[in-house]
Amino acid sequence: MKLQEYRSKEILARHGVALLDGIVASTPAEARAAAERIGSPVVVKAQVLVGGRGKAGGVKLAATPAEAEARAAEIIGLVIKGVTVRTLLVVPAAEIAKEYYLGLILDRAAKAVTVIASADGGVEIEETAKTNPGAILRLPLHPLIGLREHNVRRVAFFLGLDPEQRRAFGPIMRGLYAAFMASDADLAEINPLVTTPGGELLALDAKIVLDDSALPRHPELEAMRDLAEEEPSEIAAREAGINFIKLDGNIGCMVNGAGLAMTTMDLVKLAGGEPANFLDIGGGAKADRVSTAFAIILDDPRVQAILVNIFGGITRGDEVARGIVEARASLQRTVPMVVRIVGTNSVEAADILRQANLITADSLDDAAAKAVAAALAEGGAA
Ligand code: GDP
Ligand code: MN
Repeated sequence: MKLQEYRSKEILARHGVALLDGIVASTPAEARAAAERIGSPVVVKAQVLVGGRGKAGGVKLAATPAEAEARAAEIIGLVIKGVTVRTLLVVPAAEIAKEYYLGLILDRAAKAVTVIASADGGVEIEETAKTNPGAILRLPLHPLIGLREHNVRRVAFFLGLDPEQRRAFGPIMRGLYAAFMASDADLAEINPLVTTPGGELLALDAKIVLDDSALPRHPELEAMRDLAEEEPSEIAAREAGINFIKLDGNIGCMVNGAGLAMTTMDLVKLAGGEPANFLDIGGGAKADRVSTAFAIILDDPRVQAILVNIFGGITRGDEVARGIVEARASLQRTVPMVVRIVGTNSVEAADILRQANLITADSLDDAAAKAVAAALAEGGAA
């Protein structure tokens, strides 16, 4: 789950990171009032969960409150990478001497929380990584001890900070690390971290991405979720207790169990297809859940076939098959469905499915191949 800049800054500020407090606004008049309270000049910033807002015209300097109002009117409603701006952050404008990048990521390959730093800040770090990888420091931290003082000094020297700036850098690096750990983040970044002509260090932009699996430990962070910017299908799935992640392919997958769902996706790829989603309906697979899952999958117009892969244990296969047939009858749109049910009462299940004209399969390889073929045929027909 990504947090907006103003939320991310709230968290960083709580951990002692130096930044300029802003005011959130959602109308031009509110932006003007914010600029009056802050004192000009200010920067008016679009709050959307995508990068590159500056380049897209979502970050603008305003010399007076009237100008802040005018800039706000331009930014609200702007579409940045497909997302419409509704919220703004108004902050005091800082004078910038130099821009730096400072981030922490959970690097699974290195099995460590890793500092990423560059004196080539402000721009997208991915770009620097491609064009000038030597300008980036990657420093894995000790998994048990965490951030140590020599790590902080190493980063400060890499960035080329002078002695006074290095002193100011300590609390920022430690604060970023504390915020990262306390919120169970996958990523926390400051881009740009700037030095001012007066020698101050300030975080001008912040982004925190939380680990969704750790969210139950942080109800106060879960409450920061921005539903307006999430995939509607992922919201519907979460509300129904279905584990769902939208992908780019054309073969919808409905599976019980996360591991089986991963395997199913692998086999779809092996058969030459592209999965449209990851979906784990969990235990039980009752008719209402199944129909919600179908509706969520079919909400994606790219889906041209659905592969259902259910392992019946305590749940009886014939019950699941009846659920699928029932659910299918209530759908607005249907596509070919390939259903594989194994386990308890799988023979009865296959009978029910065949009578309802669904494609059945005995093995998972067979099911994947049939789903890919059905999607191809459907794609050709469409
Ligand atoms: P992003 O483009 O979405 O990453 O948005 P940022 O908040 O990083 O802003 C983009 C750029 O706008 C920064 O790299 C700065 O160069 C500039 N900028 C942002 N805030 C200020 C500010 O307070 N003063 C000045 N002079 N420039 C700013
Ligand atoms: Mn930025």
